[in-house]
Amino acid sequence: MKLLFQCDCGNQTNFFAIGDTDELGRETLEVEDDERLRIVFGETGLMFICNFCKQTYIIDKNVTG
Ligand SMILES: [Zn+2]
Repeated sequence: MKLLFQCDCGNQTNFFAIGDTDELGRETLEVEDDERLRIVFGETGLMFICNFCKQTYIIDKNVTG
């Protein structure tokens, strides 16, 4: 399982599973290339910052699915 981040500027970066699972069976994902994408755990949520155009995206932690 993996994720693909794609910014509007065309920058795209994969996330891949490093093979570690926790006690609940959840797999750890890591970003493929941290030169392309910066991930910040902020107070308001999880932010993805494109290192090409500096656009920031946030997944608001108060949003429940
Ligand atoms: Zn971008």
